Amino acid sequence: MKLKDSLGNDLISRLATPSNIRLGEEIFKSGGVEILSCDDNKATAKVSGGQTKMTEIEGTEDMTMWKCSCLGKRTTIFCKHCVALAIAFVETDISSTDPPVE
Ligand SMILES: [Zn+2]
Repeated sequence: MKLKDSLGNDLISRLATPSNIRLGEEIFKSGGVEILSCDDNKATAKVSGGQTKMTEIEGTEDMTMWKCSCLGKRTTIFCKHCVALAIAFVETDISSTDPPVE
């Protein structure tokens, strides 16, 4: 399964706390996610929720990894920036950042 598909299922709600999900949704809705690059299994973005953070989510079929400049080395927390990026990633038409296939 592609990362985008797993995030589109219930991965976000399994990884993040309800309050971070709510905050992440707010960041996404206010247009705070600027995707710098993404493909099927990886997304990098600048996410602004107060301060701008660099956030990255990468996944394989069995494993999801994420990084955010608000977390440092604490990678057990799926922070609000990760939630916002995950939502944006699911909502974004990936083909828009790739050359058109047709
Ligand atoms: Zn963060």
